[in-house]
Order: sequence, then C-alpha cells, then structure tokens
Amino acid sequence: MNCYKCNVSGKVKELRPYGPRGESICFKCAMEPDSKATTEMMFGKTLDACGDLAVLDGSQVRPATATEREELAKAQESKR
Ligand SMILES: [Zn+2]
Repeated sequence: MNCYKCNVSGKVKELRPYGPRGESICFKCAMEPDSKATTEMMFGKTLDACGDLAVLDGSQVRPATATEREELAKAQESKR
C-alpha cells in the first residue's frame, strides 16, 4: 500500500484512510497544511462511524467493545 500523496510505500498500519475520498495517506502528508483539514474531517468521520463510544487504540480509532463499555459503566457508577 502506498501513500496517495508522496507515494511512499508503507505497511498498512502506518498509513491512514484519511485522504479526501478515503485514500491511504502517511502521517507526514496527513499533517501537512494542505491536508490537515481533510485529515481532521476524515478522522472525525471515523470517530462518528465508531458510534457513541470510540476507543483510541494505539493510532487507530475503533468502536468500544462490549467489555470496555461494561468497564466504563462500572467506573462511572463507582464515582457516584
Ligand atoms: Zn505521504
């Protein structure tokens, strides 16, 4: 898989689907001034797709698992 902007090849892990149409992009290009707004918008969409509870797992965002939801609910209960 290659970055759609600079065409650097990298492991899928190092590229993010934050191009304007979900293209893979490397972190360096994603943070360049002309890409940053798109990156942030695509990141926001990814968060939305995760539903009400998103987990930042390393550099990936994913929906929370049932177990994590339970743990969070318990942690919130113990605060009351
Ligand atoms: Zn790149």
